[in-house]
Amino acid sequence: MKAFLAVLTGLAAALAVFVVPASADPGPVTPADVEAADGCYTWNRTLSEGASGEDVRQLQIRVAGYPGYGGVLGLDGAFGPATKAAVTRFQQAYGLAADGVAGPATFGKIYELQDDDCTPVNFTYAELNRCNGDWSGGNVSAGQARANALVSMWKLQAMRHAMGDRPITVNGGFRSVACNNAVGGAPASRHLYGDAVDLGAGSQGFCALAQQARNHGFAEILGPGYPGHDDHTHVAARSGQFWSAPSCGM
Ligand SMILES: [Zn+2]
Repeated sequence: MKAFLAVLTGLAAALAVFVVPASADPGPVTPADVEAADGCYTWNRTLSEGASGEDVRQLQIRVAGYPGYGGVLGLDGAFGPATKAAVTRFQQAYGLAADGVAGPATFGKIYELQDDDCTPVNFTYAELNRCNGDWSGGNVSAGQARANALVSMWKLQAMRHAMGDRPITVNGGFRSVACNNAVGGAPASRHLYGDAVDLGAGSQGFCALAQQARNHGFAEILGPGYPGHDDHTHVAARSGQFWSAPSCGM
């Protein structure tokens, strides 16, 4: 009898667990739920200092080009003071109310700036990978190399806007080990990680590009006067800062 009661009690508990969530009503879908829908990523809440999560990390990628001079924004999904400052700079750059809080106006501007594959409108995965089609064979996984390239593209988008929205010429980015060896790249080249981008002179010139890159989250900048860089400006991520373009006063 005691065992039978225990079974009954357990059954009741199981039913209670089953019934409670089923009674929860998600409510009707309202226009507010869908108005911001975008092909790449949609933010569903306003984000401010103290917030955390994947939506914060997605925001950090989009504002990675606004860390301030010499800065690099962490992509950790935690909305701290540095993220607030980056959001504020992004808002200032586009004439939005600059309060460091990412709400509908900020997300709306991001939606305007991105394609359905999450790249910023003025840069593509294809131009950042003239080595192979699948981002494989580098020093990190293909997925990581592609993700690193995406962050560099958002930094370049910020830089492009700061320089008057004139086109920036991209000569290449990711290299597999084979591609890197073929062009005589350094064994530890950031091109093997997907975040390095080689820029042509364009209408800006190598030195202006190298100098401006200091404001947009590139910890590695190599340009004229640095061995092998008289014919392009190289921007990349790295741990620690290394900027060298002696002919540009850097
Ligand atoms: Zn390079």
